[in-house]
Amino acid sequence: MSPSTVLGYAAPAPGQPLEPFTYQAPDLEDQEIRVSVTHCGVCFTDIHAIDDHFGVFSFPLLPGHEIVGRVTETGKAASGHEVGDLVGIGWQGRCCGGCEWCEAEQEHLCQEIPSCGTWTPYGGFASEVVVDGRFAYPLPAGMAAETAAVLMCAGIAVYPPLRLFATGPSCRVGIVGIGGLGHLAIQFAHALGADVTALSSSPGKEVEARRFGADHFVVSTDREAMAGIEYGFDLLICTAHGGIDWGTLLMSLRRTGRLVLVAFSPVHLEAAGGDGGAGPLVDLIAHELSITGSFLGSRADMREMLGFAQEHGITPQVESMPMSRVNDAIRLVRENRARYRVVLVNE
Ligand SMILES: [Zn+2]
Ligand SMILES: [Zn+2]
Repeated sequence: MSPSTVLGYAAPAPGQPLEPFTYQAPDLEDQEIRVSVTHCGVCFTDIHAIDDHFGVFSFPLLPGHEIVGRVTETGKAASGHEVGDLVGIGWQGRCCGGCEWCEAEQEHLCQEIPSCGTWTPYGGFASEVVVDGRFAYPLPAGMAAETAAVLMCAGIAVYPPLRLFATGPSCRVGIVGIGGLGHLAIQFAHALGADVTALSSSPGKEVEARRFGADHFVVSTDREAMAGIEYGFDLLICTAHGGIDWGTLLMSLRRTGRLVLVAFSPVHLEAAGGDGGAGPLVDLIAHELSITGSFLGSRADMREMLGFAQEHGITPQVESMPMSRVNDAIRLVRENRARYRVVLVNE
């Protein structure tokens, strides 16, 4: 293998296991940097992409977007990075630079976002990756690589909506789904001073949820327990990928409450309740509820999130595996058995 060949793991076709895959290392554009990958977390979005859930990617697909590595080369205009620097890279690896959102430094809302992924053309389940240097972030001093890798996607997925809407100790926050994103959301919400309830379909997660900082724990499939928190939350952050009773969730919001979706889970709302009475859509209007999405974050959000996590000791619970076991790692995440994030390590 020549030094300019990159070794990675790619899905040859939708839904297929990843296979060893090589490609010729590209020359750098002026603003790009080359990063030797040391760690890459496995995110459910990788699985959505492998399964062609979004229908926008081409195959073979080399996923991976929770990256930590060392800068090995910088383009002529890639300021702020030196060879040898340790950086973190998340889902977004570039932007169009010309749309109104990029000009407003809200690059995560770029109109060309489907083609802005770090995995376009090739992602982080590999020996190296090339991105626009503006989307590589220096790690806070002393932060473990595994921690930084997971924060690059799972952290930035949950921090901005909590920072915006979980304001103060009187704010009652529910975190729905206690997995890779949820266990970090509990920690961020707790550090922001909110009263935090973890909602999970797995009763076995109560002890750990409380250790992450949850003040309360509710089994989300227990109808009686859910009825007990009717009109209880100011803010719900939904990190779950399925099995959600959206009507019951909305009914658990106080007036003017907000449900924020951070995972790509289909939402189904019935106009009327199961008993023919007022349903969730009536509550949505009459209680002035909001349903909002939150996607990645700006570059400023990313820097702020990393600093906040470092300051408050926010640490994902990570299981490390060698990069060569990428398919085992994907299986753990796909089957919802990861406790709570799997990070692949290049050896
Ligand atoms: Zn992700
Ligand atoms: Zn743009």
